[in-house]
Amino acid sequence: ESRNPGEPEFLQAVKRIFTSLLPAIAKHPKYIKNGILERISEPERLITFRVPWVDDSGKVQVNRGFRVQFNSSIGPYKGGTRFHPTVNTSIIKFLGFEQIFKNALTGQPIGGGKGGADFNPKGKSTNEIMRFTQSYMTELSNYIGPNIDIPAGDIGVGAREIGFMFGQYKRMQGGYEAGVLTGKGDRFGGSLARTEATGYGLVYFVNEMLQDHGFSFNGSRVIVSGAGNVAIYAMEKAMQFGAKVVACSDSTGYIYDEKGIDLDTIKRLKLDEESVISAYAAEHPGALFNENCGDIWTIPCDIALPCATQNEIDENAAKLLINNGVKAIAEGANMPSNQNAMDLFNESHILFGPSKAANAGGVAVSALEMAQNSMRLAWSFEKVDAKLHEIMHNIYRESINAAEAYGHPGNLVYGANIAGFIKVGDAMIREGVI
Ligand code: NDP
Repeated sequence: ESRNPGEPEFLQAVKRIFTSLLPAIAKHPKYIKNGILERISEPERLITFRVPWVDDSGKVQVNRGFRVQFNSSIGPYKGGTRFHPTVNTSIIKFLGFEQIFKNALTGQPIGGGKGGADFNPKGKSTNEIMRFTQSYMTELSNYIGPNIDIPAGDIGVGAREIGFMFGQYKRMQGGYEAGVLTGKGDRFGGSLARTEATGYGLVYFVNEMLQDHGFSFNGSRVIVSGAGNVAIYAMEKAMQFGAKVVACSDSTGYIYDEKGIDLDTIKRLKLDEESVISAYAAEHPGALFNENCGDIWTIPCDIALPCATQNEIDENAAKLLINNGVKAIAEGANMPSNQNAMDLFNESHILFGPSKAANAGGVAVSALEMAQNSMRLAWSFEKVDAKLHEIMHNIYRESINAAEAYGHPGNLVYGANIAGFIKVGDAMIREGVI
């Protein structure tokens, strides 16, 4: 703690992960002998930089940009870019640290990284976003490249921002280099099925969990929080698997439609019109709107998929879900359940899919985008989707096997962390003390 003052999120993440690694460390003294814990929790490189830009009124603005290049033992640094006012060293290091293990779990050759800026895109014009993003990339371009570090999007960074970053990088390098970013438009090197990958992957993962315990999506009641990229495609795939999704939310509230959510309306409202979710209730008589988005967990369901944001399920929400008979919970968002909620799910033997494993489909398909860029090929949607399905199956099997092998059968939190750690820790040992 004394080495990382003022970094509560990072310390919390390290503590959480290290606690779940104890069985592996006790069994294999080589990790202690080789100083793996000390080394893996220290970034290989942390870059912070000034991002100056001019707003529409002609005023000079300055933001702070970040990139943490955390671990390159099994591949080039890979991780998203977050533009949000809360971004700071602690948040970037926490996300970058988690990314090491998630990326290893995908089975793809990608190391861990993360970046962003304390820039608030809300209320900014497209021109302001472009000027900011170009300035951010101007400095970042010194540190990234298709074989070194490949950023992608995250909160506040979607296809538009990736396009601007890609254009600026291209201009600075003097030519087209597809492999430097992922999440690109499909006209310039993006992979088909990347948009759907995190939500679809989540549902493929949950399907494995359910099948292992004699349950299925077919005929089940599902609640999905959020109405963004992850939530929409999680709902789509769950519906394709025969589930009835009865509620979803955005930051202004939730809607509950006992007939089953009409996804076309949600897509139009949230993807095309950038509207608020209450508009759904106006179009669908019988659907209820409630302006407290956190109360979505009061609705009884068989399967809960939190896909909005961090810490959206606290102890109270967890108790409600359990008392209402939930069978499975899986995290589409990063860390949507707080520690108390996770403890309650564990004590109640509810099937629980932690974000590190359950939402790894997005970064897995980003790695497939890198592979296509290297080969100068574009695979079909069906081919990418089939690979995603296989990857999620493997992540589930590896996690469940590790949980069993290290004395916590069925506990996917232990299993996912241990399975990811062993891959990275073993590579670090073989590469020597660096
Ligand atoms: P989006 O910005 O596309 O969507 C987020 C959605 O959540 C929006 O509908 C937003 O509402 C809503 N929301 C925000 N806060 C709350 C809240 N407190 N209660 C209810 N709804 C809320 O983001 P993504 O879907 O891409 O990401 C969601 C989560 O998944 C994040 O934690 C992200 O880090 C994680 N993730 C995303 C991946 C991806 O590939 N996109 C990959 C892995 C993880 P509004 O529309 O009102 O803003």
